[in-house]
Amino acid sequence: MQASIPYGRQDITQSDIDAVVEVLRSDYLTQGPVVPKFEQAVAQFCGAEHAVAVNSATSALHIACLALGLGPGDMLWTSPITFVASANCGLYCGATVDFVDIDPRTYNLCPIALESKLQSAEKIGRLPKVLVAVHLCGQPCDMQAIHVLAKRYRFKVIEDASHAIGGRYQGQPIGNCRYSDITVFSFHPVKIITTAEGGMAVTNNAHLAEQMVLLRSHGITRDPARMTHEPDGPWYYQQIALGFNYRMTELQAALGVSQMDRLHTYVERRHALAKRYDALLAELPVTTPWQHPDSYSGLHLYVIRLQLDNTGLSHASVFKALRAQGIEVNLHYIPVYAHPYYEKMGFRAEDFPQAQRYYAEAMSLPMFATLSEDQQDRVIGAIRQVCTSPVYDASITFVEPTSIKG
Ligand SMILES: *Cc1c(COP(=O)(O)O)cnc(C)c1O
Repeated sequence: MQASIPYGRQDITQSDIDAVVEVLRSDYLTQGPVVPKFEQAVAQFCGAEHAVAVNSATSALHIACLALGLGPGDMLWTSPITFVASANCGLYCGATVDFVDIDPRTYNLCPIALESKLQSAEKIGRLPKVLVAVHLCGQPCDMQAIHVLAKRYRFKVIEDASHAIGGRYQGQPIGNCRYSDITVFSFHPVKIITTAEGGMAVTNNAHLAEQMVLLRSHGITRDPARMTHEPDGPWYYQQIALGFNYRMTELQAALGVSQMDRLHTYVERRHALAKRYDALLAELPVTTPWQHPDSYSGLHLYVIRLQLDNTGLSHASVFKALRAQGIEVNLHYIPVYAHPYYEKMGFRAEDFPQAQRYYAEAMSLPMFATLSEDQQDRVIGAIRQVCTSPVYDASITFVEPTSIKG
């Protein structure tokens, strides 16, 4: 049996390894000079004024919400088709969470659905304080439309760009925060660049950056200007807020700085692979990803929709058949409201018809910078065989071959 092909994976070069080893031999493993260097590299790349590195995008979302003043009695809205972290950050702050249905073409939060939900919410005095706009697969949301609504209804905007570093919106880098308050990136190994675990929040607002710096390290300040009285002595610091230990290490930052050198190449490679998928899938009963002309996706994910009516197959049977061949297709994502923890809050699937339909058909194909054309051909061959094989009967329960379990 051939080695299986994951849906995503990191690329680590000798220069990455050298950069991390250099930090290991240096004086600082944490709180040294490399984290600020990584922050500067990302801020410069994105055209944002401030960057705050943390130990995950989840942490970045949490302190971004806190910096924006989200708390008990407030509401956070986001897309239901995202990783749970985009919504959980609201719950961490004691706020309540609600969802806006997706656009059927981009699978991002739909600005038309957003506007009508805002109109209803205004009537009952339940407007959101924060909207988390998730750039699913790396394709940016319609940020200009969201920005107009944010001004009219006075809510703050966080871009969850965990999938999108290296992408562009209206020709400008995602992360420049032109239409948002804060943008968050993830550096988990499946994402576009990695620091093992890690995340970053970027903003053009100095006050928000200062708050996030405070919150990532216990709420402690060493700046006399922020203290309630003169320092007691040279040892002095003050805790002035309830913060966390969300710091990124120097090892992670060194890996990040080194990976940033290849960000551009990585995204270009993903686009070349996507173009090839588009062409090779054209004759098959699947819908390939539609790209808005305003967007240049970071292409973290390549999601197709199965035209199940045309094949007579079930969603799960296609996954099982592909995984049995070592093609590690995945589903991004289970609608957040459908998880038991959220279900008990009273969400109804009928309120999100586009998200429901998406969840019934979506499948992420392997997509990462080092995916070879041979591997890609194997993926296509397997999909062709599964989706067009006339003998395949979806009503027969699929049994996993023992070879896959070793
Ligand atoms: C991966 C991801 C996160 C969380 O990132 P971590 O760095 O693993 O905390 C948040 N939102 C989205 C959309 C993601 O894909």
